[in-house]
Amino acid sequence: MLDNIKKLSQVLSNTFNAKDIVNVLSEYFVQNFGISSLDIYVFDDTTKSLRDFARNWLYIEEICDKQTTGQLYSYFEVLCYKLHVEENKFLYYGLHKGTKLIGMLKMDVSFIDTENLIKFLEYGSYIISLKIQNVILSEKMQKNIDFHDSMKNIAKIIETQYELNYIIPLIGEMIDKFVSNHLIYIFIRNETEQTYRLVWPGACKDEKIYGLLSVLTPNSDCVMTADKKIGLFPLVTEGKLIGCVVAKSTDGRLNEKEVEYIEQLTNQAATTIDRANVYAEILKHATLDALTGFYNRRQLEERSKQEVSGAKRKNKPLCAIMTDIDFFKRVNDTYGHAVGDIVLKNVAHIIKSQLRDYDIAGRYGGEEFTILLPYTTLSEAQMVAERLRITVEKKHIDISKVVPDSPVKYINVTISLGVHQLQTDENETDLIQKADKALYEAKSGGRNKVVIYDIQNNL
Ligand code: GH3
Ligand code: MG
Ligand code: MG
Repeated sequence: MLDNIKKLSQVLSNTFNAKDIVNVLSEYFVQNFGISSLDIYVFDDTTKSLRDFARNWLYIEEICDKQTTGQLYSYFEVLCYKLHVEENKFLYYGLHKGTKLIGMLKMDVSFIDTENLIKFLEYGSYIISLKIQNVILSEKMQKNIDFHDSMKNIAKIIETQYELNYIIPLIGEMIDKFVSNHLIYIFIRNETEQTYRLVWPGACKDEKIYGLLSVLTPNSDCVMTADKKIGLFPLVTEGKLIGCVVAKSTDGRLNEKEVEYIEQLTNQAATTIDRANVYAEILKHATLDALTGFYNRRQLEERSKQEVSGAKRKNKPLCAIMTDIDFFKRVNDTYGHAVGDIVLKNVAHIIKSQLRDYDIAGRYGGEEFTILLPYTTLSEAQMVAERLRITVEKKHIDISKVVPDSPVKYINVTISLGVHQLQTDENETDLIQKADKALYEAKSGGRNKVVIYDIQNNL
């Protein structure tokens, strides 16, 4: 007997995780006692449920049918008396920590004489129990260490990173690491539209989640569905609901510790995301024109420089269009400045809608816009300009919201446009100035026109 116990201690001393322990023990019991199978269940105090030790801590209701689950729980309850044998087939043996029952062994003992085995387990079970406690403790410690590392990492990100595109995947991966058997989603909330946009990972096919998101408020704590399969962790900073982290079970439920982890990480993430949003807002104001959302003059000059050198380097055509609203002063004078602003916005919107992703539009000044068209020849640019001219001319601009009393509900404006293609000996200033010169020609030629800069005559 003593030899057997020594042997058991020896084989267990080389194991460091749950799976190995169960494998080594199975082999040991098969060889020494002839049993045909071994399972180990551990009682999880936080969730008050039995979990499969070897199989990733799965809850038994997730691996066994209802009847078996019920049986296992009922056997477990009587195991304070250490032992239960079910119809000469399975033997259940309690694992104790002091007098407290912390788990049980389930062995298939068909065809064997259990007397020796039971005698052995009287002592052997203590050694197994000790080993299991050790592993549980060290896993917990490791998780704690990892968790604190992660918190430190997030703190570092907060200090140094402002790009949401960079921050979000990092946060997603960190939460993922701590929550096994769960899918993690991060949503960002649009305050004005009150909608949620998935930002991590690429897709979320579960429509139910979108429904759940709509009930969140800035005061919501973590929300769990009744079946505990989906947990929502609102991202809140300074009383604002800015998004949500969602954990969806693939198998298993979130335990209290995991909930606590996600809550802490979510708090940190909320601060980080908020900071990034503030930064993006500052950046936007520094580069974009507030009324039209186009690049402002300074940024436009910066981008022209880049595009000109890019076009020269790649030996690709680059065109510029300058455009100015015709008789805009009249609009202001007749209907007021607010209507003028609406007209500006409408024209900007038309320009934006006609351009490709990599085209560049900027507000050059007042009601004059600059458009840069990379990879575009002069004749193509002329077509773009003509299309813009016609679209603006046809647009009935609704002014009724700004001047409700006005008998006129809609007004029309026209634009004049000058086009020029970058020549090899020209720089960004030449490009814009020549397009502007062509615009001047369009104005003096009657307005509501497209004019191409005349290279031959410098007109
Ligand atoms: P033209 O056809 O020759 O371009 O005639 P115009 O009346 O458009 O003349 P001009 O370009 O000189 O007039 C520009 C006017 O645009 C003057 C200014 O009051 C107005 N303006 C400039 N910026 C804004 C703005 O942000 N909002 C509004 N409402 N008006 C603006
Ligand atoms: Mg004008
Ligand atoms: Mg002008």
